[in-house]
Amino acid sequence: MSSASNSHVPLVILGAGVIGLTIAHIAACDPDVTFDITIIARDMPGDWDSQAWASPFAGANWSPMLLGATDERVRRWEQTTFDRLWEMIPSGLVKKLPSIMFAETDDILSTLWWKDLVRDFSVLPDSQIPAPYKVGIAFDTVCINPLEYLPWLRSELESRGVTFRRQHVWSLDEVKPFVGKTGLLVNATSLGSRSLIGVEDTALFPIRGQSIIVEREGLHKFISARSGAGLSELVTSVIPRPGLIETDTALLNGTYQKGNWDTSLDMSVAKGIFERCSALEPCLKEKTKILRHTVGLRPDREGGPRVEVERISLPLRRSDGLVPYVTEHAEEEQQEIPVIHAYGMGAAGYQRSWGVAIEVLSLLKENVQTGC
Ligand SMILES: Cc1cc2nc3c(=O)[nH]c(=O)nc-3n(C[C@H](O)[C@H](O)[C@H](O)COP(=O)(O)OP(=O)(O)OC[C@H]3O[C@@H](n4cnc5c(N)ncnc54)[C@H](O)[C@@H]3O)c2cc1C
Repeated sequence: MSSASNSHVPLVILGAGVIGLTIAHIAACDPDVTFDITIIARDMPGDWDSQAWASPFAGANWSPMLLGATDERVRRWEQTTFDRLWEMIPSGLVKKLPSIMFAETDDILSTLWWKDLVRDFSVLPDSQIPAPYKVGIAFDTVCINPLEYLPWLRSELESRGVTFRRQHVWSLDEVKPFVGKTGLLVNATSLGSRSLIGVEDTALFPIRGQSIIVEREGLHKFISARSGAGLSELVTSVIPRPGLIETDTALLNGTYQKGNWDTSLDMSVAKGIFERCSALEPCLKEKTKILRHTVGLRPDREGGPRVEVERISLPLRRSDGLVPYVTEHAEEEQQEIPVIHAYGMGAAGYQRSWGVAIEVLSLLKENVQTGC
């Protein structure tokens, strides 16, 4: 870290999803560096109907993903996040969720990298596994309700002086005035990074998730069925969520359609989701109130999440001359700014959020600029 550590460092965070907000939280609480934080985003907590971002549509619980089996860094993010969320259970924002996962094949038994990450893990005896499943696993996990958790993050940030600015950013040149000569930029725009000029990451792709939000008393466990070790296109799970305001709600999952950008609702798909979830949790067939149907796009990326520093020279120059003209700044001198990318979390943005944010903070500190 440079000698600028005691002065105020401008920090611009592009994106107000769970990743951008959690990074802001970790940076705002840092005891070593005082960051002057501005969050710039098109969609903000409260914009629950906008399908242009993923965070409102998540389950959002911790459940095992295949990437953790092969990627040590992802495993670390998930462990850190799980522990942090577990500590937050008394706040009521996070729910402790007893869970049962059934699988049709025993592949899952060779990818149990997560058995010590969760609490009270056990493999069920055959007598407790219904047909057609071959394996059953019980464990305790955590769950968040995005519609309460994201506003909490925002209010925490506002109380620490973080500024929120609503803006659709077409090119990185537009944020340069906020970053200034000594500032840092975090790019947490998830799928937006495909179209953000200066980033244009074509490795990003959506995984369409259609879900049903229900109100039903008496749902207390996360129950899910998998065909193999990973998630299949017709992912099936019932996720009861905490609710300080909206009580007794659960998310019925859903679909997991890779490469599908369609955000329109398909009621024949909804019928299938309800039937599959009711087969797992028969009490849903009675006294269930349908609150809403949702479709969201999980922001996934070929090659896994991108969390790294890229030094980008601004104003942008392209040989095709197609960079949008930003009036006041287009003629400025070239300047390299450190951009810390943090996107592409796929189906696991909540369950990686605190771990990713801690890693981003260390990258920020390594890149604090002196202004020379
Ligand atoms: C159905 C479904 C179920 C899920 N279940 C879970 C779960 O159980 N557990 C879990 O951990 N995760 C789950 N997820 C995944 C999780 O929702 C995402 O991984 C996470 O929300 C990604 O957060 P993010 O901050 O990276 O992106 P986003 O939430 O997409 O936020 C991106 C931000 O960038 C802004 N932005 C983008 N482009 C621009 C631009 N050009 N200019 C200005 N602003 C821009 C957006 O407005 C937004 O503020 C689920 C997702 C879905 C859809």
